[in-house]
Amino acid sequence: MPETQHNGEKTFRGIPVSTGICRGKILVLGRALPTIAQRHLADGDLAEEVNRLEKALVKTRQQILDVQRKVSEGMGAEEGSIFDAHLLVLEDAEHAWHTVAERYAATLSGIEDEYLRERATDLRDVTTRVLNNLLGLEEEAELRHLKEPCIIVSHDLTPSNTAQLDKHKVLGFATDVGSKTSHTAIMARSLRIPAIVGLKDVSGQLVSGQQALLDGHSGVLVINPTDQTLFEYGQLMLRQATAQQQLRDLLREPAVTLDGHRVLLNANIEQAADAEQVKANGADGVGLFRTEYLFLNREHLPGEEQQYQDYRAAATTLKPLPVVIRTLDLGGDKFLAHMQMPTELNPFLGWRAIRISLQERDIFRAQLRAILRASAEGNLRMMYPMISGLDELKQANALVEEYKAELRQEKLPFDEDLQVGAMIETPSAAIVADSLAKHARFFSIGTNDLIQYSLAVDRMNEKIAHLYEPTHPAIVRLIKITVEAAHNHKLQVSVCGEMAGDPVLAPLLLGLGVDELSAAPSLLPSVKFLIRRLKRTEAQEVAAFALNCESAAEILARCQELTRAIAPTLFETT
Ligand code: PEP
Ligand code: MG
Repeated sequence: MPETQHNGEKTFRGIPVSTGICRGKILVLGRALPTIAQRHLADGDLAEEVNRLEKALVKTRQQILDVQRKVSEGMGAEEGSIFDAHLLVLEDAEHAWHTVAERYAATLSGIEDEYLRERATDLRDVTTRVLNNLLGLEEEAELRHLKEPCIIVSHDLTPSNTAQLDKHKVLGFATDVGSKTSHTAIMARSLRIPAIVGLKDVSGQLVSGQQALLDGHSGVLVINPTDQTLFEYGQLMLRQATAQQQLRDLLREPAVTLDGHRVLLNANIEQAADAEQVKANGADGVGLFRTEYLFLNREHLPGEEQQYQDYRAAATTLKPLPVVIRTLDLGGDKFLAHMQMPTELNPFLGWRAIRISLQERDIFRAQLRAILRASAEGNLRMMYPMISGLDELKQANALVEEYKAELRQEKLPFDEDLQVGAMIETPSAAIVADSLAKHARFFSIGTNDLIQYSLAVDRMNEKIAHLYEPTHPAIVRLIKITVEAAHNHKLQVSVCGEMAGDPVLAPLLLGLGVDELSAAPSLLPSVKFLIRRLKRTEAQEVAAFALNCESAAEILARCQELTRAIAPTLFETT
């Protein structure tokens, strides 16, 4: 149910993940399948029902054949043959439906049928088509080919869905599930599309074509907004435009505290083309280039040459600014359709990031060689995601040395002094940071994961979003341990998780000794504004308070109190 309903206007509240206000028609996608009520049929109705099922099956076959033809023409026969599996499922309709029923039975009795688990996606796809046809539902609009600008409403959007969105047609998006640090939310910020997640069952309650207003700052989705609401939002947008201007005025100024401490503010990017945004927001460089987005939504894995071109493009566009390229962080919530990635019970604890790279040597080799080669052409650095202990770091470093030797043999240039760092995103890495520091040139704390792994709170799950507390005393202490270990070895420490883009938390991080912050380009101006009104001594006082405090809420309150006092205008535009 919407939270409030007034004059035909309905208001839903969720978790705001990407700021901005947009207004337009909604397009509801990927709704969860409707509940199918059980009906008792009179004998006389049976023939009609069988007829309905047969028609649906015929229509489904036709649709699959159409898709197969299009895919074969567009991408090749091999890709098209993927749909043979769908046709086979459909071939013996009775068997397919029986199998579905069997699966339910197996689930109910707690026995997991491995074969069926693997076929589950194919089965789901086909059964959804049949059901849609049975129920007369239109086929889902293709995200890539939206006809008009719209606000996407969906149960969920995966990172690969999000990467496909036609940026010019998508005004905003709203999903039932998700959280601030899910990669879908991160992608929305990077695309600068206003977005709200965690709206519970919103996709089931709305229909395509309804007018909506989406406020990605406060997390409010208004359906059929009244004139009064539109007027109020118009006023708010004017105030925000003034505040934005205030931030733009600082674009060329450095992030320096009132008592003269310079902080490096870097940008997080997902593709080389984002480099323009880095400059437009006055960043000091790129602190995190999430390379896995180069791999999503491609028919084939990008090889060394393709990656080299991408990394070189980022490096040369931003030269002499530094660009930190993170090696592949697949797994978790980022999967490749064309790579056999196992279905795991706990994907964030499973085959992810550096663990995949160290096992899939061909993929890692292509990426490391591409980064090394691109390092000849700009100020590149590199770091590994999800390091959980010293062995992984040493293994990865040994591979870098091996590929450097190859390149020397091949007489291909690279930066012999390429700085290689480790991400600190597991509690184990933070605790052994003193050992890691001997084998890394810098640290970058990935607080999105550090929080989820330390507090055992799935970063994707909106049901437990209230437990996902960046100011938890455990997180404060882990950051402190990491910074001390780094500084003892004369390494710089950056924070590149979402915490770094929140001006309220900047004093805490700086007070704990963090040297650099890296966040979505659009978030940097507010952080800079705040830093320029802060004294380093105030930041150190907040950090000292936090290190002695036992409550996440109290630490957060202290951070809010300070930031609101020194930069009130930053928080006035809501
Ligand atoms: C992090 O975990 O904080 C991080 C920056 O990496 P990602 O969000 O891509 O997992
Ligand atoms: Mg991470």
